[in-house]
Amino acid sequence: MSSLSAKIKDAFDEPACDKNRGKDAKPRKEGCSKSLTPGAAAGGCAFDGAKIVLQPITDVAHLVHAPLACEGNSWDNRGAVSSGPTLWRTSFTTDLTELDLVMGQGERKLFKAIREIKHTYAPPAIFVYSTCVTALIGDDIEAVCKRATEKFGLAVVPINAPGLAGSKNLGNKLAAEALLDHVIGTVEPDDPGPYDINILGEFNLSGEFWLVKPLLDRLGIRVRACIPGDARYRDIASAHRARAAMMVCSTALISLARKMEERWDIPFFEGSFYGISDTSQALRNLVRLLVRKGADPEILERTETLIAQQEAIAWKKLESYRQRLQGKRVLLNTGGVKSWSVVHALMEIGIEIVGTSVKKSTVQDKERIKQVLKHDKHMFESMAARELYAMLSEHRADIMLSGGRTQFIALKAKTPWLDINQERQHPYAGYDGMVELVRQIDLAIHNPIWSQVRQPAPWDCQPDLIGELPCTRNETAYLFDEFACATAHEC
Ligand code: SF4
Repeated sequence: MSSLSAKIKDAFDEPACDKNRGKDAKPRKEGCSKSLTPGAAAGGCAFDGAKIVLQPITDVAHLVHAPLACEGNSWDNRGAVSSGPTLWRTSFTTDLTELDLVMGQGERKLFKAIREIKHTYAPPAIFVYSTCVTALIGDDIEAVCKRATEKFGLAVVPINAPGLAGSKNLGNKLAAEALLDHVIGTVEPDDPGPYDINILGEFNLSGEFWLVKPLLDRLGIRVRACIPGDARYRDIASAHRARAAMMVCSTALISLARKMEERWDIPFFEGSFYGISDTSQALRNLVRLLVRKGADPEILERTETLIAQQEAIAWKKLESYRQRLQGKRVLLNTGGVKSWSVVHALMEIGIEIVGTSVKKSTVQDKERIKQVLKHDKHMFESMAARELYAMLSEHRADIMLSGGRTQFIALKAKTPWLDINQERQHPYAGYDGMVELVRQIDLAIHNPIWSQVRQPAPWDCQPDLIGELPCTRNETAYLFDEFACATAHEC
């Protein structure tokens, strides 16, 4: 069995994943990938998934061994940000051409590219990504990386997750495997301490982890490594000396958390920094784990004092929004950890949840939603664009929170929409992030544009034209037929 096949098999055999544990032996072997629906968007490839997980490591040079187009997956597809180095934002690729493939020049070109990056940028590490083309022609990136590491005295890390290996989620897992095999544990820190933690699966989108870190600083907790958001190579290389870990996104990095616990005895829990009570609970869980691992128990009391102060400040700031948003109905079309953490956060200020998508949620995520909502009738796996449009145009929700892909459905249904996925512009983590989220929802719902766009246009409903001309309003809802046009009956 090739090393990649062995890695894929290992990635799917994840004992910490409830979904996986619930399967029989045969389906477990088949893994989590679902066959794609013809005509449906396929999502990212495994290379895309690996790059998503690793690219936010900011001082590393990310070198894509491929024809130029694979590097279309550049840093700005997601809103992760750095507090220092900018090297991660430079696109490096071996830019293989047809001639290189025919002449078998791939490995040579890769080695030369590594040498050029080393001499020009002197990064602490270079991550080399394999892709479909270089996997198909059989370039041995592991051997090239090994040779380059010896020759240049620099960490050159092979990321063996070619696009054809599988889905984006598989790529996430293969990226975690690469960190475990080649990075974590390779550097011994000078100053390990009893308050060192790792945060796993936190991407620092819109800089939101910077709203949480000051809280940890005040408690004297040091983030040894945040993987991957705003991370530095050496921090990740020495992450094995942390005393405890919090896993923010289990879909992506649960195997990393579980294996770090097994190898280096770093206990972890899954938590969220979205919402007031979830942030408080995450802080409590973190300090409890640290105390269990030998930290002074006085930190428990200091944590409760900090939580009480911060909650009081946040609730005071939220008070002015409570009346404006009480009873407003939100449709959440996101998934993963946000499917429950944001639900909980919004219910805390009296917002009603009319639906939450659980398409990318784990079994644990779904259990949490049931606990928060007290039932599962508002959970849906996925909703077709047509159904989503119908729901919004019938005003069964006052706002939809989702990613960019579905924004135009909301806008066509003349319904407020807020981006809460990776391209979002505002940080929503921690106490201040919750206030920001509520502020953005309030701004979106009460934007005066909605009352204006919902008015019939003067040319749509002139009495003398009714019945004589086809409804132009239906024409503007171009993807949908007359039944989907919510205002057809008004004209
Ligand atoms: S790795 Fe393969 S599937 Fe992914 S972008 Fe490159 S060619 Fe496309």
